[in-house]
Amino acid sequence: MISRTILLYLSRQFWLKDLLSAVPGFNRVPRRFIAGENIHEAIEVIRKLNRLGLMATFDHLGESTTSREEATSDVNEYLRVLEMIEDSGIESNISIKLTQLGLDIDEEFCYENVNLLVEDAARRGNFVRIDMEDSSRNAATLRIFRRVYGRHRNTGIVLQSYLHHTARDVEEVIRLGARIRLCKGAYHEPEEVAFQEKEEVDQSYLVLMRVMLHSGIYHAFATHDERMIDAIQDYAEKTGVSRENFEFQMLYGVRRDLQQRLVRDGYRVRVYVPYGRFWYPYFMRRLAERPANLWFVLKNLWRR
Ligand SMILES: Cc1cc2nc3c(=O)[nH]c(=O)nc-3n(C[C@H](O)[C@H](O)[C@H](O)COP(=O)(O)OP(=O)(O)OC[C@H]3O[C@@H](n4cnc5c(N)ncnc54)[C@H](O)[C@@H]3O)c2cc1C
Repeated sequence: MISRTILLYLSRQFWLKDLLSAVPGFNRVPRRFIAGENIHEAIEVIRKLNRLGLMATFDHLGESTTSREEATSDVNEYLRVLEMIEDSGIESNISIKLTQLGLDIDEEFCYENVNLLVEDAARRGNFVRIDMEDSSRNAATLRIFRRVYGRHRNTGIVLQSYLHHTARDVEEVIRLGARIRLCKGAYHEPEEVAFQEKEEVDQSYLVLMRVMLHSGIYHAFATHDERMIDAIQDYAEKTGVSRENFEFQMLYGVRRDLQQRLVRDGYRVRVYVPYGRFWYPYFMRRLAERPANLWFVLKNLWRR
């Protein structure tokens, strides 16, 4: 069986994207996890999700921008998204990646970009979630988050349960009064910074989840893991945290049955909706999380 490590390695090999794109019918495959190539397609997908009782968050695909022009173009894309969310009346906020907004070029430039988006979202009564990338960007991402949050309250951060120091970060972000999205973490990290065993990552998730639910702040739990979801439901019930005071988050195209079940049971569920032309690394990370999804890819190619 092709392993998670190999798939994560391949997610950084763009020659493979070119090779796969040349296979007839391949471009249809990522559609399971990606809402389309432009904002209009993504809005239509979100309208359908909203009709099913699901909220959404936009993700314009792209990472590791190396030029100021590209970063500015991404800021403009997100400004358009915020405007179109308001105009179309869909229930959605936005998720941003700081390397896409210039983090690797200049931290100050990136901060200005994030601030602009959060300010625009504040004017429109919307919210900006800052995704967390690999551990080498963790400290800078938190620095920018703290500065922006100091000026505008309509932003929140993602923290990853696989990192050793996340317990401290959770406490600090809660002290600020800010919203956290807790996830397990999607990157390949060394043992000096991250737990390597699934059991440890899960255990850490459960400990952090309890601290978050205790805080009285509206947090988000991003996972498709039913063990985590059951534990969150049990703990919230036991400690009297009502279903309106937190939300579950899942990725577009992953465990759609579970998303619907949670909505039917009265939970708030938000779907992370990626769109754009730069879909390859995102798509490969989804395969890495569940290599069995490779069967889904092969089946679809076969079906053509
Ligand atoms: C809304 C959202 C936002 C996220 N934001 C970030 C972020 O900012 N930074 C970051 O590092 N990571 C982020 N992630 C990814 C996250 O860190 C995990 O890599 C991913 O969610 C898989 O972990 P899991 O909790 O679902 O549990 P796992 O233990 O990986 O999986 C548990 C079960 O969930 C199901 N499942 C999980 N993934 C898939 C899949 N791709 N296809 C089909 N079934 C699957 C399977 O049944 C699996 O057995 C985000 C995830 C979500 C849902």
